[in-house]
Amino acid sequence: MARRHKNKHCAYCGAPAPETKDHVIPHELYPPSKLNSKVQRLTVPACSKCNNGWSDDEPHFRTLLTLAGEPNAAVRELWDGVVNRSLRKEDGPRRLEDVWNRMRPIETDGGVRHKIYPASDQRFLKVMRKIVRGLHYHEREYYVSDDLVSVDILRTEIPSEFLDAMPVHHREPDIFKYQFEVFDAFEDIPMSSTWLLTFFENRKFIASVWKSPESHP
Ligand SMILES: [Zn+2]
Repeated sequence: MARRHKNKHCAYCGAPAPETKDHVIPHELYPPSKLNSKVQRLTVPACSKCNNGWSDDEPHFRTLLTLAGEPNAAVRELWDGVVNRSLRKEDGPRRLEDVWNRMRPIETDGGVRHKIYPASDQRFLKVMRKIVRGLHYHEREYYVSDDLVSVDILRTEIPSEFLDAMPVHHREPDIFKYQFEVFDAFEDIPMSSTWLLTFFENRKFIASVWKSPESHP
């Protein structure tokens, strides 16, 4: 797999001589006090076709992600600032309606509550797969197409032996960190790599890059 063409091809489609750079982590996830973060500046080359068209999805992604769990200080800062401002914009009511439509009633000990389920939101998952593909290009220096990537909320604890073997990359502990493991040398494993993404300290997602679209579960 000697497909090393870093900075010569679009990270998302492989088109040669891409004319723009894309922020792998949407800058919407960084509150004002984090604007100098190194992770925020993690960029990959992208053709303008792949870089455009996310202006509606990334704020939606941020809104679901910030609503989906216990807030830390960074999430509270986002809520005080950009998220509130974004919902008060002209199209704010539509964004709010989007969010409301993503809330699912669940039974709890205290009766029926509404909870955000990002893992069932296709637009949310599309942005998450794009983040994985950007990280993949940054780390592994070749692009993978969208149909090779799957993402889900992490539903089980990962054994600590496994976690310890996955170094933490680009730690910005209260915003975003990621770990990954490569399985290319293991013929019996259908995944090329597995990625563990943690947003705002407690929103954990697991992603897989598959060796072929047919090996998808
Ligand atoms: Zn492209």
